[in-house]
Amino acid sequence: MTGEDNKCGQCGRSRVFTTCLGCGTPMCEDCSRFELIGSGCGCVWPVYYCKTCVCDPSINPNALLRD
Ligand SMILES: [Zn+2]
Ligand SMILES: [Zn+2]
Repeated sequence: MTGEDNKCGQCGRSRVFTTCLGCGTPMCEDCSRFELIGSGCGCVWPVYYCKTCVCDPSINPNALLRD
């Protein structure tokens, strides 16, 4: 069954939109969390995390800036 590959790893329903940069989980657009990561040299680049990794400071540097 190749259909499994097209399911979101978070909600298990919707079509895969991207994968989490931290854990590689496939995610739909609703479950992905968009972040802009600074490189330290003034550049930033867009990344997507899952709900778990976006709150993990060891994976997402921006997690420390929240709260
Ligand atoms: Zn989802
Ligand atoms: Zn993740």
